[in-house]
Amino acid sequence: MNWQADGDKNWNRLSSWLHTSPPDLNLRVLVLAAHPDDETIGASLLLSRFPQSTVAFLTDGAPRDTSLWPAGVNGSREDYARTRKQETIRALHYAGVSAQRMFWLEAVDQEAAFEMRSLAERFAKLMAEISPAAVVTHPYEGGHPDHDSAAVVAKLAIAASLLDNKNRPVLMEMTSYHARNGRCVTGEFLRPGSLPELCFEFSRSQRERKRNMMDAYASQRLVLENFPIDEERLRLAPEYNFSEPPHAGKLWYECMGWPMTAARWRELAATAIAEAQEHSCL
Ligand SMILES: [Zn+2]
Repeated sequence: MNWQADGDKNWNRLSSWLHTSPPDLNLRVLVLAAHPDDETIGASLLLSRFPQSTVAFLTDGAPRDTSLWPAGVNGSREDYARTRKQETIRALHYAGVSAQRMFWLEAVDQEAAFEMRSLAERFAKLMAEISPAAVVTHPYEGGHPDHDSAAVVAKLAIAASLLDNKNRPVLMEMTSYHARNGRCVTGEFLRPGSLPELCFEFSRSQRERKRNMMDAYASQRLVLENFPIDEERLRLAPEYNFSEPPHAGKLWYECMGWPMTAARWRELAATAIAEAQEHSCL
């Protein structure tokens, strides 16, 4: 069943597939997180529901520019990246995901846009090894350039997948963050309700697990305080036009004054997509 192609028609089937209780323990979900902690922000429940899940990290979570590091983090960039990996192992332990089910695609934080095509090739290889039923990644919404790059990487990898349509994973999205009127919005998608969403409202134990996972990311404590722990939302990834900005006005990463601009990101995405299309025609 090609859920992506059939869109809304099969939304109910996809919802019940993820909601069914008890869950199908053999179902393989592959989460593509731009940074360590994004999987906890958006998919802590999904990961703990499906113990065959795997998480791939696009970047190591350590920018070169130390002014982008949280207060109190010292040492080299490699030290910081190592800290983030150790935190990830501790966090994902609460969801039942072992270090053997974590894969690091090794881009530098803030820089995934510069290597979207090679990251897509690495991710496609991983996908072929794992054969997930679903890939879950970030929406294209201008929160962080690496999040938007993850949306492109997942799309390119699935498009290049050698798997036939029947076995091609369905591409889904978890919430991340984005700008609205110059403020950062968390816990919901850009234009909420414009597409069908699956909402998991958390029980007390699920909230506790998510809290424990977030606490394990001690270096990110101040950032993670801004994310809700009472529900998570998923949806099918829409067909994006990456040559258009995700919304009018300044994107969140532009509001933050980070090095990437929306125009530069779109140029890099256009090049990666064009090269991938050219390559697939050979
Ligand atoms: Zn992130």
